[in-house]
Amino acid sequence: MSAFDLSGKRAVVTGANTGLGQAIALALAEAGAGIIAVGRSSMEETREKLRPTGVAFTEVKADFGTLEPISRILEEAGQGGRVDILVNNAGIIRRADAIDFTEADWDAVMDVNLKGAFFLTQAFARGWLADGKGGKVVNIASLLSFQGGIRIPSYTASKSGLAGLTRLLACEWAGRGINVNAIAPGYFVTNNTEALRGDPKRSADILARIPAGHWGDPSELGGAAVFLASSAANYVHGVVLPVDGGWLAR
Ligand code: NAP
Repeated sequence: MSAFDLSGKRAVVTGANTGLGQAIALALAEAGAGIIAVGRSSMEETREKLRPTGVAFTEVKADFGTLEPISRILEEAGQGGRVDILVNNAGIIRRADAIDFTEADWDAVMDVNLKGAFFLTQAFARGWLADGKGGKVVNIASLLSFQGGIRIPSYTASKSGLAGLTRLLACEWAGRGINVNAIAPGYFVTNNTEALRGDPKRSADILARIPAGHWGDPSELGGAAVFLASSAANYVHGVVLPVDGGWLAR
């Protein structure tokens, strides 16, 4: 059996209705994992895309604006069996000059990108530590886990925080069979980057800096998620793996 095979595993993917989350769900499903798609929007498009893989597909409604959904996600996801993999992908971005940035835009981003991801991870890890069978966490970080950026203060703080949290949780749980790692996507074509792509100058500047010569297609991210979710990554702990067309190498 391939070390990358996920047959018999079950993965929770947050924000799986679109963009990178949908692509990750598809890649995990193609590797054999059953998918529990968690989010606030309909998962029908993702369900259809995954249908040819033949894996089990469950939808759980959740808005990470509060911690309310966490116990419900655990319960509903657990009804189909053990959850082995958690992908914390749901995330938002708010753009404004730092000097004008509002508390509402700070809190909204931190709540989803950092607080929700931490407490959902904590909830699943409690079960994994109790049954001793381990688990895999894949956090979706960002280039803003390494760089400053402009006009996105809460996003940069949240993604830098998520990278730090990835390392902290890896240190606490690596010896107990739980792998906590992250992926730092570069510039991908999704809703998240719509404003950037709509600005001709920013868009051209970004493209000119990407050694691969093109914006990422969400399908180019799935392999990294499969790797980090699989037994091939059993000795990989606390890394933030860039999938960025070479952006950070520049
Ligand atoms: P996206 O298309 O905007 O997807 C974001 C996902 O998060 C959507 O499924 C969205 O659901 C969900 N979400 C947002 N707020 C939520 C909430 N309160 N409760 C539940 N779900 C919520 O953008 P994306 O690019 O695929 O983003 C996925 C992740 O990748 C994010 O964490 C983002 O920061 C990260 N990322 C993206 C890029 C990039 O270039 N695209 C680069 C680096 C990192 P709705 O559709 O219902 O809003």
